[in-house]
Amino acid sequence: TTLSYKISDMLESILTHFEEIKARGLSIDITRGKPDSYQLDLSNELLKMDIEPFDGDVDLRNYGEPFGISDARQLGADVLSAPKENIITGEQSSLLLSYQMILAKYLFDNPTAWKDLDNPKFICPVPGFDRHFRMLEDFGIEMITVPLIEDGIDIQKFEEALNSNKNVMGVICVPRHSNPSGEVYSDQNIINIFQVGKAYSDNFLFLFDNAYLVHDFMPTREQTPVWQLAADTNTMNQAVVVTSFSKVTFGGGGLSFMAASDSNLELIKRIRGSMVICPDKINQKRHTQFFSGLDDIKNHMAKHADLIRPKFEITYEALRKLDKNYGNFSEPTGGYFITFISEKPIASRIVELCKEAGVLLTAAGATFPYGKDPKNNTLRIAPTFIDEQELEVAMDVFITAVQIAHLET
Ligand code: PLP
Repeated sequence: TTLSYKISDMLESILTHFEEIKARGLSIDITRGKPDSYQLDLSNELLKMDIEPFDGDVDLRNYGEPFGISDARQLGADVLSAPKENIITGEQSSLLLSYQMILAKYLFDNPTAWKDLDNPKFICPVPGFDRHFRMLEDFGIEMITVPLIEDGIDIQKFEEALNSNKNVMGVICVPRHSNPSGEVYSDQNIINIFQVGKAYSDNFLFLFDNAYLVHDFMPTREQTPVWQLAADTNTMNQAVVVTSFSKVTFGGGGLSFMAASDSNLELIKRIRGSMVICPDKINQKRHTQFFSGLDDIKNHMAKHADLIRPKFEITYEALRKLDKNYGNFSEPTGGYFITFISEKPIASRIVELCKEAGVLLTAAGATFPYGKDPKNNTLRIAPTFIDEQELEVAMDVFITAVQIAHLET
């Protein structure tokens, strides 16, 4: 027919463009959400700072202060809006604190350690962060997916998942600029999560990974702090909130923070006591000399935002060139990722085509538990690490790959 003739005509010109791109021998990686070197430069003062080795009468050069030095716990209290007594300021990775919390529950939870339960399960909003899924998989905890909607998680589906399953031990959420699709949960959604989870079990764990808490690059809805909402719903004993400076100062060289109730702090203390005698207090001091408080952090993050925003704009502009029939994409106002949802089940084919042309994308399926995207349509784009020119090239490849994969099926 005329239509199929037109489509094959179109495909032919796109394929010609694709061959031209391939001939350029590109090598571009947009798999992981990492700051670029200009962003890292914003914190260079940390590299050459004189550090006062005492905090009051605490000698920072020695063992001690397993939950972090006083100033660094106060900084965590400011960032997470929780009382200082409920804060651990740990090493450089919030993922490590999350892992230690899950491990503590697995080995020692009251009244029953998760390891002694029949088939313990966890709720995972999707799409989500691959390392969360890997962590739960390590423990053999079965992951039950619940879709994310604009306001947070789909509460009705969350409730249904709980009603039809035994031994669901918790939920893991990224409540601001969710990785990868950028949702910013509403207060009401978080309140509903607390209420529904608490009604299911007094022992249900709410693990909020606030990795992108201060990472807005465009105006974003204000949220009541998660810890405050936990207090309002009387779920503090079940709530754990983590964040870090991995994308504030240096990846692997920042600080991590956790807010938790006394009982959860006791549990994690048990685990941490077997692993680390104390965190790196010198680095904690370095950071508390660099940031006097939350306002300072926000000013610093505004500089990150100025560097990141143009890259997201380039990516949005490129994706807007695609006809809506091909799929749709998220337009987050913060964080590090954009998702593209293809209309057809072609995500893995798009990744394959991009790779052929020298552009590495996060593996299709990576944003779902067990690496299995049931619709094979979700892709994660991480535009921050490469420079703007490379990003434009990478997006040209991406769009070309989407068109080819769409038209060939
Ligand atoms: N949590 C989320 C949702 C992330 O996207 C990332 C990094 O990509 C991390 C945690 C890692 O944080 P950290 O370096 O503090 O372990």
